[in-house]
Amino acid sequence: MIEPERIRPLNDLPANPAGRRVVYWMQQSQRAEGNPALEHAVARANELDRPVDVVFGLTDAYPEANARHYAFMLQGLDAVREALDARGIGFELHRGDPARVAAEAAQGAALVVADRGYMPVQVRWRSHLAREARVGVEEVEGDVVVPVAVVSDKEEFAARTIRPRIHRHWRRFLAPLRTVDLRRRARPGGRRGGEVWRDADDLLARLAVDRSAAPADGFRGGTPEARRRLKRFVDHKLARYADLRNDPTMDYQSGLSPHLHFGQISPVEVALAADASGAPRVAVDAFLEELVVRRELSINFAAFNPACETYAALPAWARQTLADHEADPRAYLYGFDRWEAAATHDEYWNAAQREMVRTGKMHNYMRMYWGKKILEWSRTPGEAFDTALRLNNRYELDGRGPNSCAGVAWCFGKHDRPWTRRAVFGTVRYMNAAGLDRKFDMADYVARFPAE
Ligand SMILES: Cc1cc2nc3c(=O)[nH]c(=O)nc-3n(C[C@H](O)[C@H](O)[C@H](O)COP(=O)(O)OP(=O)(O)OC[C@H]3O[C@@H](n4cnc5c(N)ncnc54)[C@H](O)[C@@H]3O)c2cc1C
Repeated sequence: MIEPERIRPLNDLPANPAGRRVVYWMQQSQRAEGNPALEHAVARANELDRPVDVVFGLTDAYPEANARHYAFMLQGLDAVREALDARGIGFELHRGDPARVAAEAAQGAALVVADRGYMPVQVRWRSHLAREARVGVEEVEGDVVVPVAVVSDKEEFAARTIRPRIHRHWRRFLAPLRTVDLRRRARPGGRRGGEVWRDADDLLARLAVDRSAAPADGFRGGTPEARRRLKRFVDHKLARYADLRNDPTMDYQSGLSPHLHFGQISPVEVALAADASGAPRVAVDAFLEELVVRRELSINFAAFNPACETYAALPAWARQTLADHEADPRAYLYGFDRWEAAATHDEYWNAAQREMVRTGKMHNYMRMYWGKKILEWSRTPGEAFDTALRLNNRYELDGRGPNSCAGVAWCFGKHDRPWTRRAVFGTVRYMNAAGLDRKFDMADYVARFPAE
């Protein structure tokens, strides 16, 4: 059963029983398994005695996306196409603005189902579809454990304020999703509308996308790969997560963030696997704190603050204290090109930047240090914020989402509290290289990502 709180109408039109198919416009939840929007579309199609087509709108101008992101996403879509085919569900990929593709697919449909995305552009696309469609559009929220509106009706201040609200509800939403059999199956491999393509490489070659960041070889997109990663993590790493996850010379994080970003795996599935792992409770709890509490705090931020991608979304105390210290002298000053080229005086920072550029994923602990130093050595905090978010979004495979905005904003005081005052930072929390040296073997970290 899909919890009713996950579903909401986006317009007040009914289904059209004379329509020829139910359309699931796939956008955020790019998976054929563990996807409540897909299962809802199948259930509604069975009620209406219609087939289901999944429709995907592929634009080569997705904000800030480049070949690195597209390659990962298209690998995921190959897997989606294959899995849907096996279930007798059609899959059409159309080139063009996703909202326009969705509105066109709505013509003649019995009903349209959408998944939920939280970034401003995703919200705009759904509003466009709801306005243009002449038939009911139903949205299903499948990329959080607890639906945003169940947790809170406002932007939350910090993990400590959202945690009890999530904990109050999460057990009810931590349930496996049942797959529904489709009554009116499409013929396997039957002709479909839309683009015909061989595989992700073939499709990527046709797109006029920004190629400034190359595909990241160490990460392959798709639900099967996400599930392999999850199993490896649960079997071999989760037990030591609480004590080793912070060490950038060790690989004790799950590596799931790119898959979660593209909706290639359900956070409910990930949480259930961790819960059932038999790993020590302290490790499971530490992981669920990140996967559910921290991740859904970021989603709360994006859902309730349309300015989440900007400096203006920082809390007033943080903007004030940073403004008070804007004229403080900086020990070093770098502009975007120096940052991007990993050409600072700080070997730890440079290694972190190279990790991100080369692999598509910087270790979590280094992300904090990396963001704090951009703040410390940029002309203004506003410029620093833009530099950090732009670099994050260009090179991180998990970039361009709620966690990107919240992660960068955290370096500037978001979801945090005032600390001791010091130059440049004011009362925003400070981090330094000595802290890294105390905790980790930083020579080892730097050696992993040497300058060319
Ligand atoms: C400056 C900065 C920028 C960041 N940019 C991004 C980003 O663009 N995309 C992104 O997904 N995360 C971002 N983060 C948060 C965090 O670093 C990553 O989510 C994490 O490193 C992903 O690796 P993993 O999947 O192996 O994490 P794991 O440790 O295995 O955690 C599992 C999941 O929990 C969630 N999670 C973990 N840590 C955090 C956190 N601190 N806040 C919110 N959710 C978390 C992620 O969804 C992650 O996939 C950023 C953090 C900072 C400080």
